This record gives sequence, C-alpha cells and structure tokens, in this order.
Amino acid sequence: MSILVFVEPGDELSLQALSLAQSLGEVRAVSVGGVYAPAAWAAAIVAASDGADAIVAAGSDRGNELLAHVAARLDQPFAANVTAVDGDVVTRVRWGGSLLEQARLHGSPRILTVAPHTQPAAEAVAAEQLELPVDADTTVRVLETVAESSGGVSLRDAKVVISGGRGVGSSEGFGIIEELAELLGAAVGCSRVVTSAGWRPHADQVGQTGTKISADLYVACGISGATQHIAGAKGAKKILAINSDPEAPIFSTADYAVVGDLHEIVPAISAELRRVRS
Ligand SMILES: Cc1cc2nc3c(=O)[nH]c(=O)nc-3n(C[C@H](O)[C@H](O)[C@H](O)COP(=O)(O)OP(=O)(O)OC[C@H]3O[C@@H](n4cnc5c(N)ncnc54)[C@H](O)[C@@H]3O)c2cc1C
Repeated sequence: MSILVFVEPGDELSLQALSLAQSLGEVRAVSVGGVYAPAAWAAAIVAASDGADAIVAAGSDRGNELLAHVAARLDQPFAANVTAVDGDVVTRVRWGGSLLEQARLHGSPRILTVAPHTQPAAEAVAAEQLELPVDADTTVRVLETVAESSGGVSLRDAKVVISGGRGVGSSEGFGIIEELAELLGAAVGCSRVVTSAGWRPHADQVGQTGTKISADLYVACGISGATQHIAGAKGAKKILAINSDPEAPIFSTADYAVVGDLHEIVPAISAELRRVRS
C-alpha cells in the first residue's frame, strides 16, 4: 500500500501520524512551505497524491482542516482522529474521547488523520517539499500567529499542566496558578467558564472544545469536573484535584484529592516547593 503522509516540521503529532502510516505500507512524507493557506495547501497535496492508496496527516487542528479540504477536492470520505486501521475498518475517537467508533472507510484513496497521542512518535524523516499550484487559492490564509500565553510551554505537549476553574475567582486569581506553574515548568490551563468570563484566552482551555492534554500530571484547581472538561483532561497519566466541595464530580476521576480552598492550598504548595529547593 502506498501512503502519502503530510508532516509539519518539528511537529510531534506529525511523527505520530507517520508512525501509524508506516505500519500500513510504503510512506512518502510531504510538507508544504510558506504561509498557511488551507485550500492552496490541499491542492498541492491532491496534486501529489496521484496513485496513493491513502492520505494521512496528524489529527491536529491543521491536519484535520487540511485533509477535510483534500477530501472535498477528491470527493471522498474522510475519517478524522483514527487510532487504528484494519483493512478498510478504522477505529476513531468520537464525542470528545468518550466513544471509540469502528467504521468502514469507503473510498479511494483512504483519507484519515491520526488521533493525537495514540501512537508512538516515528523517527523524523526528510519530507519532500511540495510546490503550490500556480493558480493556488490563497483567499483564506494566516495573517498573524499569536503565541500561546502559557509561559512558553505548550498546553498540548506539557508534562505538567496546572489548570484553574471558576473557583479561582478572577483573572488576577490566576497569579497563584501561574506561580506554581512556573515553579514546575508547567503550562497553565483552564475550564470553559474561565475563558467565557475572559479571565484567560481560549488557547488555554482544556476540554472537548479546547485542548486535549497528555501530561504526566494534571492539577485541577477549583474545577468541578464536567464531562466536557474531563474529555480534555483524561489523557493525563495522573490527575490531582483541589476543590472545596468534597462531593465535586472531579474527585471520581482524580487520582489524588485535596479538599480545601485553592487560595490557601496552591500558595502553600509553591511555598513548600521553594523551601525544599532552597
Ligand atoms: C458543548 C459544550 C462544550 C463544552 N466544552 C468545554 C470544554 O472544552 N472545557 C471545559 O472546561 N468546559 C466545557 N464545557 C462547559 C462544562 O460543561 C462546564 O460548564 C465547565 O467545565 C465548568 O467549569 P468549572 O469547573 O470551572 O466551573 P464550575 O462547574 O462552576 O465549578 C467550579 C468548582 O470550583 C470549586 N470551588 C469554588 N471555590 C473554590 C475554592 N476557593 N477552592 C477550591 N475549589 C473551589 C467548586 O466547588 C466547583 O466544584 C462545555 C459545555 C458544553 C455544553
């Protein structure tokens, strides 16, 4: 089977997609340079896909957008967030991670993205750089890229994530969350209540409609544990919840529970970290 894989330089999720692709057949890795313009980039991928049995990319925002364009151009079905392929049956993540669906993927070539953090990363390969078609549609393109606010540590790839919810109380209240995150080299996350209130940007939101994390440790401070939030947090290996309500639903998901006021507990953890390190 011949597989065309779209990879982005330096992107861990692309290497995970490459890993699944390599298990399916002979891989040709391609990338597209310059300003991101989804329709134009998809046209370049379609032009390169002649003879490919499958087209694969990472299940990132960009990978999913790009292959949706590719599928529309080729008038073929598209399976997003696939975890396994067995013949023409794909297993894919649905409903924010609460359901694994098995579906028959008809069509040729097969077009699929690989669910983040479900495959080991492959060794990086030199990807062939595709040229944009001369008549490339660049009507929609990236004009500006705004860096994430989480202290330089990407929420998606962070080993430790410290998140705050409504219980933090205000945007200023996140000072103690940021302080702890800095001490641990962690990224700052939050719940949707927090982004809706404008206390943090949407880029910091963990959950079904936010980022799905895969940290070693997730610390949820003043977060109740709604299913839509847990959909983004459950990829963490361990969850520590700090909540003043002993009945908070998050405690049924958490590995470690601290019942109490986060405004006392979080600074106390930071103080203790400083003490043992001094
Ligand atoms: C379609 C859809 C998609 C959604 N997507 C997302 C998503 O991606 N991410 C997301 O987070 N939500 C999402 N939501 C919203 C979700 O349902 C919840 O409303 C939200 O997660 C609740 O946020 P919260 O836990 O901060 O607030 P609350 O549910 O109000 O919980 C606040 C918690 O803080 C505790 N608390 C209060 N004061 C303190 C204190 N001083 N110390 C310690 N604890 C304290 C309380 O006991 C309570 O448990 C989505 C909802 C829908 C319908």
